[in-house]
Amino acid sequence: MLLKNNVCKKDIFCLIDKYSRVISRVEAEMLLEYLFNCARIDLYIRDFKVDKTIEKLYDSLVSRRMSGEPVQYITGRAEFMGLDFIVTKDVLIPRPETEILVSEIINSSRFPAREPLAGHSNNNKETKFSHLQYSSSGHESISREQSQEVKILDLCTGCGNIAVSLSKLMPQAEIVATDISEAALKIAEKNALRHDLSDRIKFYKGNLFNALIFATFARHRNNGGLSINTDIKQESVVKNPKFDIIVCNPPYIKEGELPYLQKEVKVEPEIALNGGRDGLDFYRVIAKESHRYLEKGGSILLEIGFGQKKGIENIFSSYNIFEIYKVIKDFSGIERAVCLKTLT
Ligand code: GLN
Repeated sequence: MLLKNNVCKKDIFCLIDKYSRVISRVEAEMLLEYLFNCARIDLYIRDFKVDKTIEKLYDSLVSRRMSGEPVQYITGRAEFMGLDFIVTKDVLIPRPETEILVSEIINSSRFPAREPLAGHSNNNKETKFSHLQYSSSGHESISREQSQEVKILDLCTGCGNIAVSLSKLMPQAEIVATDISEAALKIAEKNALRHDLSDRIKFYKGNLFNALIFATFARHRNNGGLSINTDIKQESVVKNPKFDIIVCNPPYIKEGELPYLQKEVKVEPEIALNGGRDGLDFYRVIAKESHRYLEKGGSILLEIGFGQKKGIENIFSSYNIFEIYKVIKDFSGIERAVCLKTLT
């Protein structure tokens, strides 16, 4: 394959073809974007010099990929809602399915709302997710005039993909995000900074809602807001912890299934995957606690795993204060998001 005189003029295409049987073209492009520190389009319009050193570097990236490392961990980047996110092994890699939650919140929060989150009664309406309402170049943000002043709580924020994209696309939204992992929160803060949203998203460390009540760790701004002050503080971190929307993509894999996951998924943090014995532990806590943090008529949007809708419906219905108003299927027809509102 390589390359007369160690230099293949024209070619990145030689490199893409070299491993076309073992990695997908998209993955090859992602690795090459990383290697040349360029945008994907540049691979096709710019003339990069491909010499032996570059080819060796590419070989080593591909061998990491072939040994089961997800391409996003190799490059340290992942795309979500058309935005670029920093990812490391401390965070779950954002999945396209999770865009359903973000899209639903954006569409429903438009003013005048296309489909208001609170107050409508198409019970258990099943919807197939589609990106048709978005322009092909990316995701349509809400203009300031259309945007309602909503307060959103993003639980298990991970790399901050949900919080950051909501903040970016909803100029009036006030966002609080929590995660139990300090390492994940550092990545989320970097992503907020990267998208110039540090002032608009507040991050707190703790297990689900506990992050809001027990201010064990007070975060303070220092060098761009990336450091954590571990002084113990007594008062609550959030003054009025009431939200219009609670969104969460919790860990929902059954503990017993963890050893059988694909090797790419197994390298992701267990803490971001393990949903307990039946995968529903986090939904139980959210069902139990969320009414204290929701405004009247507020909504909860949850990502769910395959076949979990019934179990989640049972958990929430036992409190008699929630109504499922929408279930959204993903591109494969799997029920992937449950939207609830409080009746009180
Ligand atoms: N909020 C992040 C995501 O949706 C991380 C979720 C998690 O760690 N379970 O991808």
